[in-house]
Amino acid sequence: MCECGEGIEDIQHLLIRCRLWAEQREKLRQVAKDRLNDVSFLLGGWSARREWRTGKPVDGDRVKWKPNLAVVKATVQFLQSTGRMALKEVSGREGEKVGGRERRE
Ligand SMILES: [Zn+2]
Repeated sequence: MCECGEGIEDIQHLLIRCRLWAEQREKLRQVAKDRLNDVSFLLGGWSARREWRTGKPVDGDRVKWKPNLAVVKATVQFLQSTGRMALKEVSGREGEKVGGRERRE
């Protein structure tokens, strides 16, 4: 049970529902806007959601999907500010060197 007493403290609860973090969540809301309630979007994944009118996936073709890095970054910052989640899975990529790969030509 989460400290707020309103549910199990999983990532969805923490990101979207928990009232203890409403203040921190405001920053995230400014970036994620109307998709603040979409956990896979916040974590940079392709969302299986479909638009209710057209039946098409909201994120389009899964193969062409690219995460919204501004949103992912804001999500990581939110989680760090709460200090409630182990961030290995979420922020592991930040430590990777970009373009640091060895070239074999
Ligand atoms: Zn809570």
